[in-house]
Amino acid sequence: MTKHVYTFGAGQAEGKADMKNLLGGKGANLAEMNLIGVPVPPGFTITTEVCTMYNSIGREKTFELIKPEVEAAVALVEKLTETGFGDNENPCLLSVRSGARASMPCMMDTVLNLGMNDVTVESLSKKTGNPRFAWDSYRRFVQMYGDVVMEMKPKNKEERDPFEVIIDELKHEKGVELDTDLNTEDLQELVKRFKAAVRKSTGKDFPVDPWEQLWGSIAAVFNSWNNPRAAYYRRLEQIPDEWGTAVNVQAMVYGNMGDSSGTGVAFTRDAATGENVFNGEYLINAQGEDVVAGIRTPLEITLSGSKKWAELQGVSEEERAAQFPSLEEAMPEIYKQLNETQQRLEDHYKDMQDLEFTIQEGKLWLLQTRNGKRTGAAMVKIAVDLMEQGAIDDKTALNRIDANKLDELLHPIFDVSALKNAEEIARGLPASPGAATGQVVFFADEAAKYPQSILVRVETSPEDLEGMHIAKGILTARGGMTSHAAVVARGMGKCCVSGAGSVKINYKTRVMNVDGKEIKEGDWISLDGSTGKVYEGKISTKDPEMSGDFAKIMDLAEKYTRMNVRTNADSPNDATVARQFGAKGIGLCRTEHMFFEGERIKAMREMILSTTEKGRRKALDKLLPFQRADFEGILEAMQGYGVTIRLLDPPLHEFVPHEEANQKEMADEMGISLDEVKALVESLHEFNPMLGHRGCRLGNTYPEITEMQARAIIEAAVNLKQRGVETYPEIMVPLIGNVKEYKLQADIIHETAKKVFEEKGTKIDYLVGTMIEVPRATLTADLVAKEAEFFSFGTNDLTQMTLGFSRDDAGKFLDVYIEKGILKNDPFQILDQEGVGQLVKMGVDKGRSANPELKIGICGEHGGEPSSVMFCDSVGMDYVSCSPFRVPIARVAAAQANIRR
Ligand code: ADP
Ligand code: MG
Ligand code: MG
Repeated sequence: MTKHVYTFGAGQAEGKADMKNLLGGKGANLAEMNLIGVPVPPGFTITTEVCTMYNSIGREKTFELIKPEVEAAVALVEKLTETGFGDNENPCLLSVRSGARASMPCMMDTVLNLGMNDVTVESLSKKTGNPRFAWDSYRRFVQMYGDVVMEMKPKNKEERDPFEVIIDELKHEKGVELDTDLNTEDLQELVKRFKAAVRKSTGKDFPVDPWEQLWGSIAAVFNSWNNPRAAYYRRLEQIPDEWGTAVNVQAMVYGNMGDSSGTGVAFTRDAATGENVFNGEYLINAQGEDVVAGIRTPLEITLSGSKKWAELQGVSEEERAAQFPSLEEAMPEIYKQLNETQQRLEDHYKDMQDLEFTIQEGKLWLLQTRNGKRTGAAMVKIAVDLMEQGAIDDKTALNRIDANKLDELLHPIFDVSALKNAEEIARGLPASPGAATGQVVFFADEAAKYPQSILVRVETSPEDLEGMHIAKGILTARGGMTSHAAVVARGMGKCCVSGAGSVKINYKTRVMNVDGKEIKEGDWISLDGSTGKVYEGKISTKDPEMSGDFAKIMDLAEKYTRMNVRTNADSPNDATVARQFGAKGIGLCRTEHMFFEGERIKAMREMILSTTEKGRRKALDKLLPFQRADFEGILEAMQGYGVTIRLLDPPLHEFVPHEEANQKEMADEMGISLDEVKALVESLHEFNPMLGHRGCRLGNTYPEITEMQARAIIEAAVNLKQRGVETYPEIMVPLIGNVKEYKLQADIIHETAKKVFEEKGTKIDYLVGTMIEVPRATLTADLVAKEAEFFSFGTNDLTQMTLGFSRDDAGKFLDVYIEKGILKNDPFQILDQEGVGQLVKMGVDKGRSANPELKIGICGEHGGEPSSVMFCDSVGMDYVSCSPFRVPIARVAAAQANIRR
């Protein structure tokens, strides 16, 4: 019989760390912590398989099936805690928590203090001699259960959480400010009001039976797997919908039992910088999510962290020590245990851990550990540090790099000189590093209102996720380094400043006020997530530097890669940048822009509008010197490496003059009438230019274009050779589907090269090959490979033509397709391995079967996307090519592919 429930407690566990698929990350680690002697309250995990079953056969049948196992597991918890679930004298209270395979922080729901009702609250009060604590726990339970299970949520974005509104009303009536200022009677009143609100809004009474509460909560966790924010997060992080979540049920421990209790969140290293310093935040007399919810401002765990915090906040040492002491000062003994435990956990997992702990009356309990989310910079530093420390080997260090996350390190920071003149208007916590500048929006669902927006909120919540993703940066008025905004922003690698207390936000008028200064929606502000500073206005940014630990990771990539990484570059500048990132050659140099700049467009238009070969040749002769100079520049910038130059590709009509002034200019230039020009322009109109007169179809109808371009390239290379610069041009014919289309072009190129060599009396090495981007070319790749010296897969067009999606129009339906699960992701960003991938593989196999020497690469957008790079490695390509700023990402992905294969 399949086992559905795994218990843990008192140093024993049925599960362990490597059972994440079945138990979820949280459940597997709760089990593991028990096994390595870390104090964890007893409990059990209902497997992810049950979630899948729940989603297919429904609640009734699923619960019937797992009931005996759940009852037995609850009995074990009762035994270990010497309490009884539903016992009126000595009640057992539970937490019910979600936990998927991959960590999805704050994405799903948690219920604490389950088992509370009017009777158990009294016995808990008597048992502990602490009625305030008992009632505080009760009101939290009604609030969480109401929220999670009975769906008492705000109905629209302007509305606040209904329970928080009730709390604020009562605080106002009592004239107090903090939750902790409410006394027992106040809490009793809250429970009464909460329940009345539940009845009013749902028409149902709040359930008193603990078992009903437990099954209701288990169902709610399973249901939460399908809530929109969890679904959105999965899409963002590419987590499959089929995985499901586990449910963790665990005996409660209480951080809200008074001043010798508390709760906190900690990291074994700095999640922002990667520095090896233990850090975190805690609150005395608090429970559960209080620390992350941003309701009270949490305190620092370590003394050094506390001092740093005070400095940033401008708090004096006396004030800090008296009012904001670190845990290290407030509870030295607990701090010592916590510090030992964090070291033990990091040594055990050999990675930075993110811990949740609770202190109940002077005893420490761990409630969670996981590999902590981190910024790209921290990811690199931690991997290198652990490697140099000897905890992990170099392959493991390289594998720890999430290639996509390197993107953050490749992004701009503020220009130091621009920063000097900037006016600082507020300061918060440096929650997630980087620089951002943009226009203010106050609602997450309005983040797309401006091309560059900064989301400003009192605090963020999981509903804001999508907007946080769109915004360039996030500023919150409340919350600490572990607030929702901070954690999520670091996960996304997005600049965030949290807890900027001087920022007062009025959502209604859409204005924020900072020390008397008004900033309206749409105004520009800038954030520095590394210092916590907020500036007025727009500040220019500059590119980051690539040295230190980053360079060490790049060296490892170099050591372990099989494929080379080239870049797509159309200018010497792009080529130079890419070389600095380690590009070994150019995989795609487009020549289009060489026809547009300045005077060139006139010559190009003259060529298009000419009706005779003679006329075209005359115009092309004007273009030749420009092109030759461009090629010299780019070949020189990439000297020593191959440079693939694509012949003219875009539809002809793109070059045609559409405005009358331009048409007039051309008429004068060519000595023909305006009407003749208009008629010519008209005749060039196409219904579907992307499938029209473009690519090698141009070269085949006007061979003199190919001839001119080939001459410009070869002459450039010869000139460079005479200057002692070594170059390897690779001339690429675009958009072929038929080997003859290619062959005719290749013949022209070879003939032209021969002529140039004769004229110049010297030779250079060059290759001629083709782009594989029309499905027919992949199907006949063996025929093509007999003629071509290289293939470069142009997966943008290949995707477009294989799926029949126009790249320029797919935006209208792609989102819907992804939402409906028709597509897993955007096929123009992530290679469709199932479909397009088959054509690529066939093209490679057929090509190599006919020509074992064939050099093969990819030059579509996909060449810089890690999963697609891994695919390219698996089919045996020689190189991938991508935009300059993606080169380091592709290099790491290529090396990882080779290691993992
Ligand atoms: P998330 O996945 O959002 O972190 P958790 O399941 O970890 O949610 O629960 C949130 C918080 O609830 C925890 O950080 C912890 O503080 C509190 N909590 C969970 N279980 C218990 C428990 N058994 N006793 C006390 N507090 C708990
Ligand atoms: Mg947690
Ligand atoms: Mg193309």
